Amino acid sequence: MSEFKQKKSLGQHFLTDKNIVAKIAKLAEIEKDEPVWEIGPGKGILTTELLAYNCQLTCFELDRTLFPILEEKFGKKINLVKQDILKADWQQYFAKQKLKIVANLPYQITSPFLFKVAQFSQQFSLVVVMIQKEVAKRIQAGAGSKDYGPLSLKMQYYFEPKYQFTVKPHVFVPPPKVDSAVISLKPRENRPELEDEKFFWRVVETAFGQRRKMLRRNLRQLTSQENLFKIQNNPIDLRRRGETLSEAEFIQLYKALKSL
Ligand code: SAM
Repeated sequence: MSEFKQKKSLGQHFLTDKNIVAKIAKLAEIEKDEPVWEIGPGKGILTTELLAYNCQLTCFELDRTLFPILEEKFGKKINLVKQDILKADWQQYFAKQKLKIVANLPYQITSPFLFKVAQFSQQFSLVVVMIQKEVAKRIQAGAGSKDYGPLSLKMQYYFEPKYQFTVKPHVFVPPPKVDSAVISLKPRENRPELEDEKFFWRVVETAFGQRRKMLRRNLRQLTSQENLFKIQNNPIDLRRRGETLSEAEFIQLYKALKSL
């Protein structure tokens, strides 16, 4: 059996403050027997708190040196999946009932993980995760703010994100270099239909290509200058910058580009 050594490469910053752990678990409003996923249980500080809610807990952990620790501590009380959460076959673990996710995420997988949750957003009722503060601010940012970008639009398209609270580095071992934050993501019920979602996100990414440039400049990556001339003021003034457009305005712009 290999001995446990903390690995930075796996984002192993373990929580030490039980009050913070309790606050995170409380935000998830877990009911008895509800199916819950924890990503990266580590040594199990959050796991213990989640089990106090008598939920059906599935924990995904990648570090094999943690398995014996978790098995000894929790035995059959948890369903331990010894796999990379990004590589696991999620469908296999979906339940009839919608799931909740609660985690102190390994920060290096934040974006791919949240995009995967977005892809299956109808399977989840609530996601409560600790991530880097800077990323949490980007997820929650509104049009016109400096943190606003494709990540804000994507996450807000699938979820109603809420910045819950900031967590300082000293409550982790080892302390990370940056502040962290807990956010909750509630899958959005009535999101606008997008016929060609792939093209919509291309429009968004392209509009933010060079942040300080006007739309008419950035969008040249997508279509001809002649085409852009046809829609220069209608429905969106192409002298504006991408960072000023709301989701509804991006949808108008995407529809206009699509119709060219
Ligand atoms: N939950 C514990 C805590 O709060 O103290 C540990 C959190 S630590 C930030 C992240 C955990 O995720 C580590 O246990 C790490 O081994 C695990 N991990 C890292 N990458 C993972 C992946 N791709 N899939 C599953 N677990 C992963």
